Amino acid sequence: MSEEKKVVIKRLKSAQTMGQFMVDYYRELDQAAKAGKPKIAWCTSVGPAEILRALGFLIYFPETHSAMLGTSRMATELIPVANAIGYSPDICSYLTADIGAFCKGVSPLQKAFKIDSVPKPDVLVYNTNQCRDVQDWFTWYSEKFNVPVVGIHTYRGVGEVTDAHLDSISKQFENLVAPLEDVADRKLDMDEFKQIVALSRECSDLWDQCLAKAAAMPSPLTFFDGCTLMGPAVVGRGTQKAIDAYKILLGELEERVGSHDGALEDEQFRIYWDGMPVWGRLGVHSKMFAGLNANVIASTYCSSWIFSALDPNDPFTSMARAYTELFIVRSDDYKEEYIRNKLDFFKCDGIIYHNAKTCPNNTNCLYGMPQRLEQDTGIPSLIIDGDLNDLRLLSDEQTKTNVEAFIEQLEERK
Ligand code: SF4
Repeated sequence: MSEEKKVVIKRLKSAQTMGQFMVDYYRELDQAAKAGKPKIAWCTSVGPAEILRALGFLIYFPETHSAMLGTSRMATELIPVANAIGYSPDICSYLTADIGAFCKGVSPLQKAFKIDSVPKPDVLVYNTNQCRDVQDWFTWYSEKFNVPVVGIHTYRGVGEVTDAHLDSISKQFENLVAPLEDVADRKLDMDEFKQIVALSRECSDLWDQCLAKAAAMPSPLTFFDGCTLMGPAVVGRGTQKAIDAYKILLGELEERVGSHDGALEDEQFRIYWDGMPVWGRLGVHSKMFAGLNANVIASTYCSSWIFSALDPNDPFTSMARAYTELFIVRSDDYKEEYIRNKLDFFKCDGIIYHNAKTCPNNTNCLYGMPQRLEQDTGIPSLIIDGDLNDLRLLSDEQTKTNVEAFIEQLEERK
């Protein structure tokens, strides 16, 4: 099984549309930063983008920049720069790579889009629903740029989302408005806000439908495609442009499903991925799995930008629900039920957990979950040790050997 074979992965034509979306997104930010308008807010990837957009801010998401530091494989040598100023190598390697890049004055935007640097913020807004690291990360930049930082402090390990959770979080969203209005120099128009929430919901629904197409056998897309196709859902939610992009993608996926055209030539095994991707190995992992006729078809990660609770008629409370119902915010009981449903829906033969060393928040294999789920469902699992950005924390050889052995195990079960 370890013999190399020629691997064919059928690229989606609409990947180009998504790529162009990201080019336009970064260029618009760059122009605004140079012109000094519109104002720019930095926001965490599952932060309150809808409020910011309704106040006229362009939104920059540092995590997407960090993911680019990962895919461009710049991150590993930049992390020590942040370590040298006190940020431990054990904490989020998005944070350390990004702060390291800033200190060195480098960015993957320079090569990718001929953009000199990240856009200067007028305000920074975080939500700790994903982790505490984002608060530290944004506070550091707030001091560097001498601009305000505001945030939402959420519950973690949430089982059932209750009215008490929603009251607290929606109040916090409402309390953000006044300081953000001060920076934006305008008032929040509720009709405009509702319209943005409606656009965000539509984007989320379309992205959800795109990901659900992977339930087809063979699947028209892979997790590795999803990691780049999700760009507009992260940075463009609340805009018509993101909706237009996902309509194109959905159309292509429907065509593929209609003609039984899978992303792989010969899909023999269907795998669920839990945890973050290894950004610097997306291509390598994509080819490795395809070479074993194994399609990693679905993931918790790409589904993180599905906000089905958003409701324009009740924007604050529905935002509170949408951003608290997220997988990463929830208890292990909830997560296990969620993954069980996904394994069933996507008809998966196996599950891979990425043990990302610097992101325990997006790692679910440390407290017995793989064993419990395997006992419950009979579906085998494999844990891959690695990291989202720090390539010193993984062994390519070990990963390859373990994945090959895992696929052999799945083969024997067939
Ligand atoms: S969730 Fe993980 S990767 Fe994302 S910002 Fe937090 S620690 Fe970093």
